[in-house]
Amino acid sequence: EPSNSKDEMGELTNIFNDMMDQIEHSFNQQKRFVEDASHELRTPVQIMEGHLKLLNRWGKNDPIILEESLQASIQELERMKKLVQELLDLSRAEQIESKGSDSSALLLKTIQQVIKNFELIHEDFTFKLEVYGENLDNPLVQISENHLEQILIIILDNAVKYSDQIHKIDISLEEENGMVKITVRDYGVGIPDEDLSKIFHRFYRVDKARSRARGGNGLGLSIAKQLVESYSGEIYASSTLGKGTSITFTLPLIENR
Ligand code: ATP
Ligand code: MG
Repeated sequence: EPSNSKDEMGELTNIFNDMMDQIEHSFNQQKRFVEDASHELRTPVQIMEGHLKLLNRWGKNDPIILEESLQASIQELERMKKLVQELLDLSRAEQIESKGSDSSALLLKTIQQVIKNFELIHEDFTFKLEVYGENLDNPLVQISENHLEQILIIILDNAVKYSDQIHKIDISLEEENGMVKITVRDYGVGIPDEDLSKIFHRFYRVDKARSRARGGNGLGLSIAKQLVESYSGEIYASSTLGKGTSITFTLPLIENR
């Protein structure tokens, strides 16, 4: 029957289209996974390299450097291991699953550790941490320590990369309505007003030529935004062209220890 075979053809076409959609979807997912994975592993690899070079140069004769650098390397390796596992989980789950109220991180300790690692891989930069208000003695915030490190690394990586003559980065903390505000300020090239809201979009770069010279893909801030928002936080930027940029993100404050 002609009408029947037409139905069958139609059904076959639908099945075929669905299948192609699924293949395309899983292809895009894999592509995204590879992009995100390479972005997130870049800095930890650099940090590990920094510690190993330090060990190689001085650690053999200096027991303090030996101990410190070995500890830091092991810690960074642990972090990378978790990161890889998480990226794999993520690619399966398709989205960051909020860890909800059961995860917490000591904000000061985590920031200090990330700063130390950045001082190692960027010796020509100065990182300053300032805490405003007595409400923030030793804040415990609602996020997993790994995610917090990931966000800080993404923002600090940019701050360093888009600095110009002034190699100084200020990190400040303050409390506001039960949230902790973390601001990373640099004195670099800045971002034009019209681009400010777009820098959190995937693959968005302000000046393609400029960013490519500095090796960017436009991925960092979109990953940071996804992470921050999965913990009910917000992330935003303010900037003056040629003067510098501030990136601020908020996280729920659990308590002060
Ligand atoms: P990737 O992070 O993938 O290596 P990227 O740094 O270009 O690449 P994002 O971190 O998402 O990507 O940042 C997006 C864009 O926002 C950058 O290309 C840059 O133009 C601008 N930008 C981000 N941070 C700063 C900053 N601190 N100062 C000036 N411009 C910035
Ligand atoms: Mg970046």
